[in-house]
Amino acid sequence: MPELPEVEVSRLGITPYLEHQRIEKIIVRQRQLRWLIPQDIHLAEGLLIHSIRRRAKYLLLDTELGSIILHLGMSGRLHIVPSDTELKKHDHLDIVMDNGHCLRFNDARRFGACLWQAVGQAPLSIFSALGPEPLTDDFDGNLLYQRSRNKSVAVKNFIMDNKIVVGVGNIYANESLFLAGIDPRKSADKVKKKDYLQLGLIIKQVLAHAITQGGTTLKDFAQADGKPGYFAQELRVYGRLNQPCVNCTKPIQSVIIGQRNTFYCDNCQK
Ligand code: ZN
Repeated sequence: MPELPEVEVSRLGITPYLEHQRIEKIIVRQRQLRWLIPQDIHLAEGLLIHSIRRRAKYLLLDTELGSIILHLGMSGRLHIVPSDTELKKHDHLDIVMDNGHCLRFNDARRFGACLWQAVGQAPLSIFSALGPEPLTDDFDGNLLYQRSRNKSVAVKNFIMDNKIVVGVGNIYANESLFLAGIDPRKSADKVKKKDYLQLGLIIKQVLAHAITQGGTTLKDFAQADGKPGYFAQELRVYGRLNQPCVNCTKPIQSVIIGQRNTFYCDNCQK
């Protein structure tokens, strides 16, 4: 599943082809994604995309009348292709630009989304209740500490809660807690302030590093057979059950927390 770094890399990848360019037409081949693609999406035809932003795992293509909102869901992929490129299975949506490029959305499982946010209308409900962006000054360990008091959920669930901070997916929660030396099973309200201050910094570093690593794949972005937004990562603990801990060589343990696979070293994480 694409996580925040992959979505940010997608944003960086498509921006040079779409920013300050005019949308010629939008071709919807499959309207039923996670939600129906609204007819209003066609209001963007003929308009310039003046900026491409990301909020949580949503991409927003801004025009003067509103924003096209894209979400990759479980299996969604964005490609930049020449607009006459032959279709593949699951190519559900084309945003055709008048510069000959086309943003093509492929999504085998159809949990992705394409929505329309009109200028001047109340924000869509998907944006209400979202916590701060992890890579901005609105987020830090102090916020984690303050919001965690009286919260007895596991700290791993706590940092993966979009209402607390957006975009800390399962892999990044595992990796961040390992680097911070915090047991993922520990109750959120039992984690000390100094540990949250460090965890806040580490979450920023882990996500920023993943984006930098993903940036190396950008050269492939305009190729239809490339795999934009998915990249090999250096994982210290995630997926390493029974392999030696990179710090102490004890075998990595695994447990299910919040229905998600969780990996940790019971020697290094307290
Ligand atoms: Zn260890």
